[in-house]
Amino acid sequence: MLTFNKRTALITGAGRGIGKAIAETLAGHGVTVICVSKSADSCGATAAAIAAAGGKAKALAVDVADGAAIAKAVEELQKEFPLIDILVNNAGITRDGLLFRMSEADWNDVMATNLTSCFHWTKHFGRPMTRARWGRIVNITSVSGIMGNAGQANYSAAKAGMIGLTKTLAREFAGRSVTVNAVAPGFIKTDMTSGFVNNPEASARILEVVPLKRFGEAADVANMTAYLCSEEAGYITGQVFNVDGGMAM
Ligand code: NAP
Repeated sequence: MLTFNKRTALITGAGRGIGKAIAETLAGHGVTVICVSKSADSCGATAAAIAAAGGKAKALAVDVADGAAIAKAVEELQKEFPLIDILVNNAGITRDGLLFRMSEADWNDVMATNLTSCFHWTKHFGRPMTRARWGRIVNITSVSGIMGNAGQANYSAAKAGMIGLTKTLAREFAGRSVTVNAVAPGFIKTDMTSGFVNNPEASARILEVVPLKRFGEAADVANMTAYLCSEEAGYITGQVFNVDGGMAM
């Protein structure tokens, strides 16, 4: 059993997939969760499911690719929740294509959603966390950011950027007992991967490079993330934890 002491967490991309599993897992530990997603329906459904299960949740629709929208949402949120103890930067998109065919718009969209969003959320919540001398930040990166992946120059660069950001902020915030870690999923069954998970030929090709020979579940990533957010993980910072069935050893 992990210890959380009635903390409050904000999870981006909590409407579906990995972010939803993280929100549900933290709520199951008594954490109050703010569920962020792009569409109000999506984060609303997650918050409603958590409330129906007896947890505490609030839905917040924000386009994380828009720094001004984040600033406005944070200003409103801080009236109700002056301190966010736990931040999970999970929202992400793919706009895949080989470099010569990749548009600047696809490069910029992925950078804004996957990487620059982490800069904004962390700037807003990092200061109150450091003042409170307790905080947990977990950035959901990817094995693509560690190994690279043909067809994902934008995504791999953004995910590698998240690792650099994680390690730097771990050093900047360490003196105030705020930890910053990253989790790097491999192939996890969500909407993002349904195209090839549901395609037998593509699945077989991918599973050749996964030693555990199966796709991961969103809960596999959520369990690691919850541990990193707990009291018990207070001596761990600046690290990247792969949840990838052994893919990137
Ligand atoms: P997913 O099923 O596609 O869900 C993505 C979530 O992010 C959705 O809730 C979506 O909101 C939200 N989101 C996307 N763009 C947003 C924006 N501009 N503003 C606010 N919210 C936005 O993805 P997933 O597979 O759970 O992936 C979650 C994270 O894990 C991503 O960062 C992804 O890169 C990373 N990851 C996933 C895998 C994998 O195999 N699935 C592997 C490695 C890393 P809506 O619901 O409103 O659309």
